[in-house]
Amino acid sequence: MTDQHLHLQTMGQQHGRRSWAEPWKIKMVEPIRMTTPEERQQALRDAGYNTFLLKSDDVYIDLLTDSGTSAMSDRQWAGMMLGDEAYAGSRNFYRLEAAIRDYYGYKYVVPTHQGRGAEHLISQAVIKPGHTIPGNMYFTTTRLHQELAGGTFVDVIVDEAHDPANPHPFKGNVDLDKLQAVIDRVGAENIPYVSLAGTVNMAGGQPVSMENVRALRTLCDRYGIRIYLDATRMVENAFFIQEREAGYADKPIAAILKEFCSYTDGAWMSAKKDNLVNIGGWLALNHEDVFDQCRNLVVVYEGLHTYGGMAGRDMEALAIGIEEAVQDDHVRSRIGQVRYLGELLQEWDIPIVQPVGGHAIFLDAKRFYPHLAQDVFPAQTLAAELYLDSGVRSMERGIVSAGRDPETGDHRHPKLELTRLTIPRRVYTQAHMDVVAESVKSAYDRREQTRGLRMIYEPKYLRFFQCRFEPI
Ligand SMILES: *Cc1c(COP(=O)(O)O)cnc(C)c1O
Repeated sequence: MTDQHLHLQTMGQQHGRRSWAEPWKIKMVEPIRMTTPEERQQALRDAGYNTFLLKSDDVYIDLLTDSGTSAMSDRQWAGMMLGDEAYAGSRNFYRLEAAIRDYYGYKYVVPTHQGRGAEHLISQAVIKPGHTIPGNMYFTTTRLHQELAGGTFVDVIVDEAHDPANPHPFKGNVDLDKLQAVIDRVGAENIPYVSLAGTVNMAGGQPVSMENVRALRTLCDRYGIRIYLDATRMVENAFFIQEREAGYADKPIAAILKEFCSYTDGAWMSAKKDNLVNIGGWLALNHEDVFDQCRNLVVVYEGLHTYGGMAGRDMEALAIGIEEAVQDDHVRSRIGQVRYLGELLQEWDIPIVQPVGGHAIFLDAKRFYPHLAQDVFPAQTLAAELYLDSGVRSMERGIVSAGRDPETGDHRHPKLELTRLTIPRRVYTQAHMDVVAESVKSAYDRREQTRGLRMIYEPKYLRFFQCRFEPI
């Protein structure tokens, strides 16, 4: 070992860390507009203090969502030029099919325009009115398609998932006792499948362990129940298994992903997340009878079974994205960046959901603004404050998103009152994360002077997208 190596090692120990960076460099940039406080004040007023109503041109760092917001690689852009836009049998479809078979391990593939297209097909194919679908926490579009097909979703996630401060390493796990109780109550014949998501978006991007999915498989086999996976952020889930579960530290992400999928009977995918494209989705299945049904339904709702609503070039970019998404260095830097932001905030004792999940930091607005009642919308207020301070756009996940109780007409009061900072993949730098953290800190320092918001316009459906507020 050279002296220099020794010196570097000692420095590493002294500082308690060794830095690493993204496995890519920047070839093309997209300028973003810097705004003045006065411009932001005006834009926020025009948007009714709702970040969904801001124009993206008025946003500096956009952390509204990680959906469709990833940066594609030079290889993916080159792939866009190889689009075979034949109506039937496009070569890009066969490339996509091969990539899904290689990396996820399923036999049959149906392309769709995005994740909810795949959810629609599988729900229509296998759910009958009166069926029950147990799952590890609901997701908005997933549950809606299950309900539209006549099913009822039942939450069987572990209790720890509902507690923002609980440090459990696999808060996405299925509670097998809860699942057993559902089977005993409704009968296995009324459960078309278990709806398993890895990671669990609504719980804060929390993972499922390999041990849990293996045990789930055993339980389901006893009753002949199938398991379908929401694979939207399954690559990120594989990273947490590699990091936290005994026996997986030396296994590549790709191998962990494939093993996990092997315990399930099929998967639907929002390729706009893990798969590094701006649009696209797919459904993959192991049983030929279900595949036949879905391949027939896709021509009704999405497009022919060799494009499913995507252009040939989209399928090419997606096939390449799948391969890039499972590279260990990519996933490590993706989650490393989310974690970097989380650690900065924790150093300043800013309350966030723990442990930090795969795709976002969730600020705990209840603890951030303990003096604000939930009825003055603390998480919405925090999203507005962040935008005013720095032009950072975040999203409310609390009382506004939860909507009203259809029976009483009152606000639903969810346990979690969160402001989500969602990190797009391969888009922002560490310096951007510093700006975000400093902006949160500045809102935190002003927290006692912060008063809430009053809702002045409320649409009937999914109100969080379009409702308007004014400051109290
Ligand atoms: C985004 C998402 C979906 C829906 O996918 P779209 O591509 O937006 O239609 C389904 N499940 C999860 C977990 C998601 O995050």
